[in-house]
Amino acid sequence: MERNRIRIICFPKCSIDEISRVRDTLESQLDIDKSLVTHENIGKLPPAIMINPARNQYISEKILEYIASIYSDRSIVVAIVKYDAYAYYYNFVFGHADPINRVCAVYTPRLESGNRAVYLDRLSKEVLHEVGHVLGLHHCSDRKCVMNFSNNILDVDRKSATFCERCRSLLKTGKLEGYR
Ligand SMILES: [Zn+2]
Ligand SMILES: [Zn+2]
Repeated sequence: MERNRIRIICFPKCSIDEISRVRDTLESQLDIDKSLVTHENIGKLPPAIMINPARNQYISEKILEYIASIYSDRSIVVAIVKYDAYAYYYNFVFGHADPINRVCAVYTPRLESGNRAVYLDRLSKEVLHEVGHVLGLHHCSDRKCVMNFSNNILDVDRKSATFCERCRSLLKTGKLEGYR
């Protein structure tokens, strides 16, 4: 029952334009009912113990573990975190997903722009990208596809907020079931 539900969790909070843009993107691209997407503001950042003090960044693996420990009903959880993070050997990550636990996170500081429309585009793309991973999609070689890997902000701006035909059909035909 909860499997098709998407929870957007904001640390500490999202503004109305962020939420409406992210919701619109998820609802239209995944073709899911609006009632299955919920959002909430947590009111604070995740516990500071998950920050590496030498880098002043969250350790993304710990963030995903934390979120998975809170929300264990098999709904898809998307954390929007207003703080920088890194994972593995990367200097930083825009986002990160754990398909096994069906959770993902997007870290907003490096997506910011003086132009609000540009920022909202970037945010919606990164959220859709990470949810794509949760649903079992891997990186896509189509440079316009939202599942294309983004190494820097120019890569994010170059791709679209949509799945290419191949990724869309993988989602539709349920060939990704093994990942769920
Ligand atoms: Zn990715
Ligand atoms: Zn694709």
